[in-house]
This record gives sequence, structure tokens and C-alpha cells, in this order.
Amino acid sequence: MATKILTEHISTPGIETFEVYRKKGGYTAVEKAIKKMTPDEVVEEVKKSGVRGRGGAGFPMGMKWSFLAKPEGIPRYLVCNADESEPGTFKDHYLMKNMPHLLIEGMIISSYALGANKSFIYVRGELMYVIRILEKAIEEAKAAGFLGKNILGSGYDLELVVHPGGGAYICGEETALLESLEGKRGNPRNKPPFPAVKGLYQSPTVVNNVESIATVSWIINNGGEAYAAVGVGKSTGTKLISASGHIKNPGVYEITLGLSCDEFLNSDEYCGGVRAGHRLKAVVAGGSSVPIVPGALFLKTANGEDRLMSYESLSDGGFVSGTMLGSGGFIAFDETACIVRNTWNFSRFYEHESCGQCSPCREGTGWMQKVLNRIEHGKGNMSDIDLLVDVSKKIEGNTICPLGDAAAWPVASAIRHFRDEFEWHIKHPLEATKPGAVYMGD
Ligand code: NAD
Ligand code: SF4
Repeated sequence: MATKILTEHISTPGIETFEVYRKKGGYTAVEKAIKKMTPDEVVEEVKKSGVRGRGGAGFPMGMKWSFLAKPEGIPRYLVCNADESEPGTFKDHYLMKNMPHLLIEGMIISSYALGANKSFIYVRGELMYVIRILEKAIEEAKAAGFLGKNILGSGYDLELVVHPGGGAYICGEETALLESLEGKRGNPRNKPPFPAVKGLYQSPTVVNNVESIATVSWIINNGGEAYAAVGVGKSTGTKLISASGHIKNPGVYEITLGLSCDEFLNSDEYCGGVRAGHRLKAVVAGGSSVPIVPGALFLKTANGEDRLMSYESLSDGGFVSGTMLGSGGFIAFDETACIVRNTWNFSRFYEHESCGQCSPCREGTGWMQKVLNRIEHGKGNMSDIDLLVDVSKKIEGNTICPLGDAAAWPVASAIRHFRDEFEWHIKHPLEATKPGAVYMGD
């Protein structure tokens, strides 16, 4: 049976209330951290756990915490990035609506560890009902003495604020999020300086994802080493994966990192396999920003070894034959999916969401979208395929924030792995533009 670090109690009726969450052992980690541990000891446990940022980048969380600057007399902030907007990613939404207290407990411990007295949860603006759930849970935690002034008589004060997001994908980029939280347009900032040095109101700030913060209670209760014993190599612990597309059982799953991709896709405990009567064509393993790969390459590495659901194994082979775990937004495509149409669809999204600050992203996403549009609609030229590769290369690595790369990679990988499908669209414009037409191979 797989270890359930985050979701063990998620199906318990009433778990969203303080009363039931407390009965299931909730807030014991806050008591332990605040009464028995120093902030540095909490940081040390998180470092030992090896947990990596669950928003998508996989940066070691304990290391990020230890980078936090601590100048005398300047406030420090913890900001939870709950602006989950990556296409295919809906795991933070699932966690917050079902277990708000797990996030709040993690926020209290993390704020204590970082020396923050005012912390924020920046929630995707479209999720107003989740904001209400969190606000109610905060009131309950406050009434029970776990938030506010002098928590548990320790002298430590914490105010927790839930803030609705600006309604744009880019507001989930951490520095755009900070701008938005400050009341400005959500334009990403240049890094460095990183938020750990100059973040919210130019003060040292840690920005962590919902799932990352939600792991902290378990780490404090069980110890960082126990967490590090779960998982594989540098991919420690468990990960929430939101699974969608042409599978039998779409949903959110907590997997132990290191699970084989084959088991994740095909066992009834998780996705249950591709829908009946169809075969796997392609996979986006970690949200729309990561390379799309043929199904066979998702299941096996280029060396023929079983691929694992881990940061290392999914990226094994780089961009030639690998993909990324990213945010855990898993999307499966069967043979009825048109790769050209899907790539065009992703491109439209990135063009729409580009903040427009840097030319390669602003112009490049527009160009890619237009070229893909004409290929999809039977007006493409063979030279368009290399033009797309060229534009994607000119965007990659040349922008202020990762949205540029995120727009470039799916296009570049779709052409690398499915070039024949792009060529078919161009060579057979009448056939390709018939409703529901899909290239099935020559
Ligand atoms: P990043 O690699 O630039 O940074 C990761 C984190 O580490 C950041 O918090 C950054 O401040 C910190 N960091 C890195 N180097 C540091 C240093 N030297 N000193 C201090 N702090 C340092 O990546 P990112 O921009 O945070 O995230 C990109 C990822 O976000 C993509 O890989 C994508 O998968 C993911 N994403 C997720 C969603 C979602 O909805 N979950 C949406 C869009 C993108
Ligand atoms: Fe804005 Fe795109 Fe530049 Fe990011 S890469 S700052 S979204 S223009």
C-alpha cells in the first residue's frame, strides 16, 4: 500500500472542519514545532526531508528556506502560491477545498520557522468558493488559539491573509504574484534578486506552493529522515498528480515518487489505463509547460528501462527523449487526439497569457500560434515546420520569466516527436481539415 502523507484522511467526512481535522491528529505538529522546537530546528527537519518544491520547478524547499535573508528590523514574509493555473494541473485546488486545515497548519509551522508574522495565501481568483473555505478554516484555527497573538502562549504572533488572485496565468509566476499582491499589474520581475532577498514590499520572502507547505506537518510529526525514506533518490516523499485526458479514471492521486509510469498509467489504483478500445499516443507528464512525448517514451527511457514517476527519471534523456514531472499535471492522449490541434491550442493559451514585457515571448508566442493555426487549417507550407522550431529556439532562454520557455517547449517537442503528423497536415490540407480528422500514420 502506497504511503499517504497528504491524503490519508481526505475522504473522512467533515475533515474540512477544525473539529474533525483535530480529532484526526491535526495541529499536533504546530504544538510540537512551537512548544518543543526552535525555528532553526524546523528548517533543519525540512532540509533533511529533501522535499522539493511541488509547484513545478522542484527546487529543494529546505535550501530555499535557508536562503532567506534576515536583516535586522526588516519583516519577512511567507507567501503560499495557490494560483494554480497550469493547464492539466488541479491538485492544489483538490487539497485546499478538501483539507484547508492541512494547508493552514503547514503555513503556521512554516511561518514560525521563517520568522514571519504576517503570511499570505494567494489563491487563484476564479476559486472564490475555495477562498471562503480557507477563510472559514482560518477563523476556526484562530478561535482555537493556533493563529493570532501569542499562539499557544509561546509569544509568537501570526496573521494569515487569504488574497484572491488577479485572474491571469502569469500571476502564478512568483514575482508577478508578489507584484499583484502589492496591488500592481502582475508583471514578472527580473531575477536575481530572488524573493528570498527582495520579495514582497522589497522584504525577504519565501514563496512556496500549496502542496509543498502541506507536507510540513507530516515532516514535523515524523521527522525529515522518515520523509526522505519515502520515494526514490533525490525525489523524496510523495507527489500529488492530477490525471486527465483519455484515461479510465481521471482524478487526483497521491503517488510515492519512484512509482513506475506503467503502473501509474495502467493500474486500477491510479489511471486505470487508456479508455477502452483505444491505445496510448502521447503524454504530457507535468502540465502544459513541459515537453509532450510519445506514449512509448513516457513508459520507457531511451535505454529501454522502465521510466519512473520521479524528477530524474522523467527528465532522463533531456529534451530529446525526456519530459518533466513539473507540476504533476498528467494528460494522456489516445490515437484520436490530433497533435497539431493540441499544440495550436496550447500556443493560443500562451499567447493569450503572455504579459508582453519581453519581445521574444510577446512576439514569438503570437507567431507560433499563427503558424500553427494555418497548418491546422490547411494553409501551411513545409517551411513552416522549421520556422516554428526557429521561433521556439529564439524564445527559449531569452525571456524574463519561464512562460517563454513554457510556450516554446511543447511546440519544439511536438515537432521533434510528431513531425510526420505536421507534414501530413500540410500535404493533405483537405483531409486534415475535415471535422475530427486525425493522422493515424502512413
Ligand atoms: P525557478 O527554477 O526559477 O525557481 C524555483 C524556486 O527556487 C523559486 O522560488 C526561486 O525563487 C527559488 N530559487 C532558485 N534559485 C535561487 C537562488 N539562487 N536563491 C534563492 N532562491 C532561489 O522556477 P519557477 O519560476 O519558480 O517555476 C517554474 C516552474 O513552475 C515550471 O517548471 C512549471 O512547471 C511551473 N509552473 C507551475 C504552474 C502551476 O500552476 N502549478 C503554473 C506555471 C508554471
Ligand atoms: Fe511576460 Fe512572457 Fe516575458 Fe514572462 S516571458 S515576462 S510572460 S513577456
